[in-house]
Amino acid sequence: MPNRHTEPGLPSLLKKLGAMTAIRDTYLVEQSLLRTIGPLLGVRETSLYRVDDTGTIIRVLNHSRSVVTEENGVQRDAERIEEVTNDQGISNTLRGLLDNVRLLGKSCSRKIDDGLLVCYPLRGDSKLCGYFVFQRDREVTPVEDAIIHGVLEVFTNYYELLDTSQRDHLTGLLNRYSLEINLDRLWNLLSARLHESDNKNSRRDTAPQTYWLGMLDIDHFKKINDTYGHIIGDEVLILVTRLLEKSFRQSDLLYRYGGEEFVAIIAANDIGAATQAFERARKAIEQFTFPQVDHVTISGGFSGADPSVLPQEVLYRADSSLYVAKNGGRNRICHYDTLVKEGILKEVASGSIDLF
Ligand code: GH3
Ligand code: MG
Ligand code: MG
Repeated sequence: MPNRHTEPGLPSLLKKLGAMTAIRDTYLVEQSLLRTIGPLLGVRETSLYRVDDTGTIIRVLNHSRSVVTEENGVQRDAERIEEVTNDQGISNTLRGLLDNVRLLGKSCSRKIDDGLLVCYPLRGDSKLCGYFVFQRDREVTPVEDAIIHGVLEVFTNYYELLDTSQRDHLTGLLNRYSLEINLDRLWNLLSARLHESDNKNSRRDTAPQTYWLGMLDIDHFKKINDTYGHIIGDEVLILVTRLLEKSFRQSDLLYRYGGEEFVAIIAANDIGAATQAFERARKAIEQFTFPQVDHVTISGGFSGADPSVLPQEVLYRADSSLYVAKNGGRNRICHYDTLVKEGILKEVASGSIDLF
């Protein structure tokens, strides 16, 4: 039987790079990178750490391969992809290594019990945006080093390009297309996090247990455009974006859903905390003095991002609540369940919604 872990040659590498750049989804491209580079280095486990502007780890993607022997004795490769959205479970050794890579701006390695932990920096837009990490029994050779650099460069350049297509040019926020293509994955993540915190009841756990989706819309924005012109209108959009970003947490997700409409997916322990978070955002806009325009307000509707409810339905619930907020006089936030309880909105049957 041929050795299943022989390093692939150049044609195979080029083929894999070709396959990687044929993908149109940032998340799948990350997976493809780990799949490409693991066999190349003869390692079973590779990880990708994503960091935000402050250097805090926001997401970890682990890829591992193993050989599984089936009942009939046939061996096959099995792989596992795991995504984590916090930095829990990172050893001090790894943390020290990541710090080193960040400070030196180049790849570094550390001796560990059964070999070496190797880390390469990932750069996007000439700043550090993550780390590529793997464990191996020997140092990286100069040829391997050149290949890793090459593959990581193709990956980051391509990733940036895809990321640009998922961002809105004016505000820099993730766009509606990004929300659409990631909604199902996002729902799986929320569901996994909920189970995670269910299982952690015995431990001290400060992570919020529930998530909320809000739809926020600038009030009378057309009038702002008509009165002050589009350039000032654009400026208002940018300022509202910055105020919303500042008001929500770094880990919350904010999208530009339409012209002057935003979607926020936030973590909050209960309805009280969620209401407070959306109210804080509303007040931040209300209290800000905008150049020329002076005062701008927003309205919003939100609903629990219950993973057992279809994401499209949750969007629809938030949108219906926003509609009530608009009709009720604007500059207010409405909560879907409360509106249903008060008889203002009727609960809609699942499966009948087509928002996209
Ligand atoms: P409401 O309070 O009911 O939300 O009223 P509105 O005027 O905010 O809502 P409407 O949907 O009538 O108008 C939205 C306006 O937003 C119309 C459109 O020209 C403007 N708009 C959409 N995208 C942009 C943009 O990128 N820049 C600027 N300046 N205006 C935009
Ligand atoms: Mg509006
Ligand atoms: Mg609107």
